[in-house]
Amino acid sequence: MRVPFLELKGQYTTIKSEVERAMGEVCDSQQFVLGPQVRRFENDIAQYCGARHAVGVSSGTDAIMVALMALGIGAGDEVITTPYTFIATAGSIARVGAKPVFVDIDPARFTIDSKLIADRITERTRAILPVHLFGRCADMEPILALAAQHELAVIEDAAQAIGAEDEYGRKAGGMGLAGCFSFYPTKNLGGFGDGGMVITNDPSLASTLVALRNHGSSTKYLHPLLGGNFRLDELQAAILAVKLKRLDQWTEQRIANAKRYDALFRARGLDRRIRIPNMPTNERHVFNQYVITAPRRDELSRFLESQGIGHDIYYPVPLHLQTCFEYLGYKEGDMPASEQAARETLALPIYPELTPPMLEYVVDAIEAFYGG
Ligand SMILES: *Cc1c(COP(=O)(O)O)cnc(C)c1O
Repeated sequence: MRVPFLELKGQYTTIKSEVERAMGEVCDSQQFVLGPQVRRFENDIAQYCGARHAVGVSSGTDAIMVALMALGIGAGDEVITTPYTFIATAGSIARVGAKPVFVDIDPARFTIDSKLIADRITERTRAILPVHLFGRCADMEPILALAAQHELAVIEDAAQAIGAEDEYGRKAGGMGLAGCFSFYPTKNLGGFGDGGMVITNDPSLASTLVALRNHGSSTKYLHPLLGGNFRLDELQAAILAVKLKRLDQWTEQRIANAKRYDALFRARGLDRRIRIPNMPTNERHVFNQYVITAPRRDELSRFLESQGIGHDIYYPVPLHLQTCFEYLGYKEGDMPASEQAARETLALPIYPELTPPMLEYVVDAIEAFYGG
């Protein structure tokens, strides 16, 4: 058997005719930029996330960047975030001219450790940017309380967490001042290329975002603000609107797969050899990734490879140790939980179309590796 890490073709066959019809409508209209498809999809996402406003943008990276720009965050400002995430999170902070300030993760959930944030707040801090990593919400309540106390913005990187809910039933992306989503093909709601969205309940922030994504312009050729080309395409919006209708069904399949892994690992006592992801019953973890913490991780990776089992490592080098952030002056040992996660975690296949025999094959291989 072979179990690919991610397989998009199976899902596509289930929606092919509807997607082709939606794309055909855009082609027939020959309206490719900021038209009715983007407007409709923005409404759909706002409704899905329970937010008042949604602004379609060109990628998840640009969603974070334009949210920071809209809040006027730039040179001289500091933004607190996690080093255990994709480069886009801190990269966007640095690209607007602000300084990323890293706070280590809570190893139990892989998201920023809310207990360590207060110590890193200075008079230059403007925002906290938590990441709902792998599909589980960060520990938002203390983050929101700290932000309120210090008058900081909270920008959520919800790129991996569309549809996730925290322990109070609040939707990922809808808890802070702005929430950022990515529609990169590997995300739970993936387009046929790049795309992103910013949601907010703040009407004036929403209108700033709308202007910034289109060169800071609300009236053609007048530019009160300096923005960029951060637009979402009509074609992507049309495709994503078709897929959004199935998102909850696909998410439930991801959750069911995660539960099946959990049960299999437990039944074989493997949960004593590896750490399986916490499955909080009062939260909605949407499992963009199912990530285990495994001793001899690199050896396990080679073994899985030899068994035809796709897997990935998110993320092998935490951001505070990336060359592009050398100037920030961090060194190895500064973020021990993130560094340990980078050394020991491994993501297993979790996409909705996996079958029970495939999941069992993966668990069999891990059992064989650790010697039963
Ligand atoms: C994917 C991702 C992004 C960036 O999204 P793109 O659409 O690829 O630009 C940002 N943050 C996190 C945590 C991501 O997983």
